[in-house]
Amino acid sequence: MEEVPLVLATRNVHKLREFRRLLAPAGIELEPLPGDVELPPEEATSFAGNALTKARAAAVATGRAAIADDSGIEAAALAGAPGIFSARFAGGGATDEQNLAKLMRRAPAGSAVKYVCALAYIDPADGEERLFYGECRGRLASERRGSGGFGYDPAFLPDEDPGHTMAELSDLDKDAISHRGHAARALAKWLSP
Ligand code: IMP
Repeated sequence: MEEVPLVLATRNVHKLREFRRLLAPAGIELEPLPGDVELPPEEATSFAGNALTKARAAAVATGRAAIADDSGIEAAALAGAPGIFSARFAGGGATDEQNLAKLMRRAPAGSAVKYVCALAYIDPADGEERLFYGECRGRLASERRGSGGFGYDPAFLPDEDPGHTMAELSDLDKDAISHRGHAARALAKWLSP
C-alpha cells in the first residue's frame, strides 16, 4: 500500500475530488499540486503524451511520486474530435458550457461518444513511469440534464445506463463506469496488488 501521498498534477478541482474519491478505498492519498508549480502546456498529440508531460513536471518540481491524467471526449460523428482538445473545443478559455454547446451543434443527438482517460504515474526516486487507461462509451443526448459531474456530463448518456445522463448519476454510480474510474482502479491495483 502506498503510504506517502501522491501529488496529482492538475489545476482542475473536479479531477482532484474525483481521483481522491476513487483512490481512497485503496488507501492512496492525493495531495494537490503546490501553487507555485507551473504545468507545461498540453502540446502532445495523444492523451498519454499529455498525461506523461504533466506527471513528469510535477514529479521533477516536487521530487515526489506524481500522477496526472489527460482525458476528453471523442465523437464518432466528428472522427474522434474534440479528443485531446476537449477542454478548449470552443476556443482557449472556453467554458464547459460553451464546449458542450459546440459539441451538440456539431454531432447529432444519439450518435456515439466516448470518454477516454490516460493516467500517468511517475516516481522520480527510481524513474518508474507507468500508464493506465480507461474509457466509457455512450451516446449524445438531445438536451442537457442533471447537475452533477462537469464538462460534457449533462449530455452524455452512458451505455451502462442510457436512461440517465452522466450528470444525473450519483458520484458512486459515475465512478463505477467512468473512464477515470477504470484508469484509477487499474493504477490502484498495480500499486497495491
Ligand atoms: P484535461 O484537463 O486536458 O484532461 O481536459 C479534459 C476535458 O475533457 C475537460 O475539460 C472536459 O471538457 C472533458 N472531460 C474529461 N473528463 C470528463 C468527465 O468525466 N466528464 C465530462 N467532461 C469530461
